[in-house]
Amino acid sequence: MRKFGRGHTLDTTGATGRELLGKLALLALAMACIDVLARGGCFADTGLGSECVRQVAIVGSGPAGYYTAEAAIKLWGDEVKVDIFDMLPVPYGLIRTGVAPDHQSIKAVSRRYEATNLSDNVRFVGNVMVGKDISIGELQEFYDAVVLATGAPHDRKMGMPGDELSNVFGSAAFVGWYNGHPDFAALNPDLSGKNAVVVGVGNVALDVARILAKTRDEFDGSDIVVHALDALDASGVEKIVILGRRGPHQIAMTPKELGELGHLHRASPRVDPADLPDEEEDAELEPGQRKSVTHIRNYAALGDEDRAGKTVDLEFDFFASPRAIVGAGKPEAVLVERTKLDGGRAVGTGETYPVPAELVVICIGYETSPIPDVPFDTDAGRFANDDGRILPGLYCVGWAKRGPSGTIGTNKPDGFEIVDRIAEDIGAGAEKSGGDGFDALAKDRGINFVTFHDWKKIDEAEIARARDGAPREKFVHVHDMIGAAGKG
Ligand code: NAP
Repeated sequence: MRKFGRGHTLDTTGATGRELLGKLALLALAMACIDVLARGGCFADTGLGSECVRQVAIVGSGPAGYYTAEAAIKLWGDEVKVDIFDMLPVPYGLIRTGVAPDHQSIKAVSRRYEATNLSDNVRFVGNVMVGKDISIGELQEFYDAVVLATGAPHDRKMGMPGDELSNVFGSAAFVGWYNGHPDFAALNPDLSGKNAVVVGVGNVALDVARILAKTRDEFDGSDIVVHALDALDASGVEKIVILGRRGPHQIAMTPKELGELGHLHRASPRVDPADLPDEEEDAELEPGQRKSVTHIRNYAALGDEDRAGKTVDLEFDFFASPRAIVGAGKPEAVLVERTKLDGGRAVGTGETYPVPAELVVICIGYETSPIPDVPFDTDAGRFANDDGRILPGLYCVGWAKRGPSGTIGTNKPDGFEIVDRIAEDIGAGAEKSGGDGFDALAKDRGINFVTFHDWKKIDEAEIARARDGAPREKFVHVHDMIGAAGKG
């Protein structure tokens, strides 16, 4: 005799015929019970008793948020309700405002997130600023688990003299400008100078340099916003210097993206062969990095004949650490110190030189925005967490958990792992009010939140106003988004 959940007992001895069938049915039921118990002990889908639904709030509708929602639905099916909050009235976070506008194939992943949105148990709740419209404590009253998937939207500070000058931007601001993020739509960078400096040799620096280098035609099929397209079209930039404080072996640029620099209409990459390490040392690199370094070697081998007709120089300056930006009001040059590697670290040699620059974009990584009452690790620039756990019932995932690293796909296992941890912690949930509780509070406070249905109206309006060949023309002001949703 064995005992199963909720007092069902099963005698598996001496059964024949109809009796056996009955026992098999009981066994199947028992197996279902075990499965349910393993998922937290909720019997809503077995017809065995009271319905218990976990209530999960995800703050941030980028990849980390949507993979977490997807994982929750996969694990709990109808026994979970997920509300995905975003401060903007539009979903998908970095897919919309971070991924380069000329990388449309990467943005296609949003179709997968859309499928998650179409689940009856998932709700998009846009235009809500958590920490301002509603506190974390209030969210925790309504939801069994609150997962911060807020990414890392702020620039890490360089902290060098002159970085407060106008026309010096962090990459969050500059990328946000050409991608139509409402916070940066009015950035209005001055692109009339001939010289631009991009600090950093990561994929964001690569995006920024490529966008600065492209012709208007090369943006065909992209969703770059029209204010940026027009400004770049009128740009006077002829030389873009990409500063790497270490060498070619230490770049953080992926091969596919780095390879694009070799196929630009008017721009050509330039690398000083003297900066290249011995070729046999490439064998020690992991294969992807080796491919990237091969691109750098190919660029170093380009001659004047390869650059015929190219009017924009994309120059890599390796072993070059920026020390100050000099200029009166606006930048005129970046003062750079030559470095050498010491145990993998860049150390200054004392030799300095100016690199002319009327525009400077600093692409050295991002930080998460703190939220009141949420423990924050200031040194790491993200929420203080233990494998995604912040406090009881409060979690983080993606860049808000691990810092700004990896690709979009890296967030998928992150999302699935955090849901497993939540399952361990919350069991069947505590019969919280979830979305109903939030809706009542929103009504009291007059929070004009946007649903997925509302977003689809914004989406349609953006598609309808697209210029020829573009997938959409984004609204860059929140009030226009709200208007298009019919909620103005
Ligand atoms: P990142 O990959 O961490 O690169 C940051 C760069 O800034 C590094 O070259 C770093 O050099 C440099 N840096 C940091 N501090 C510096 C300082 N004080 N002075 C000079 N240089 C400094 O960051 P990211 O480019 O912002 O990218 C963030 C994440 O998004 C990455 O995982 C990236 O791959 C991903 N991303 C992917 C794509 C894509 O797949 N298409 C596009 C954009 C972004 P050191 O190495 O010497 O520290």
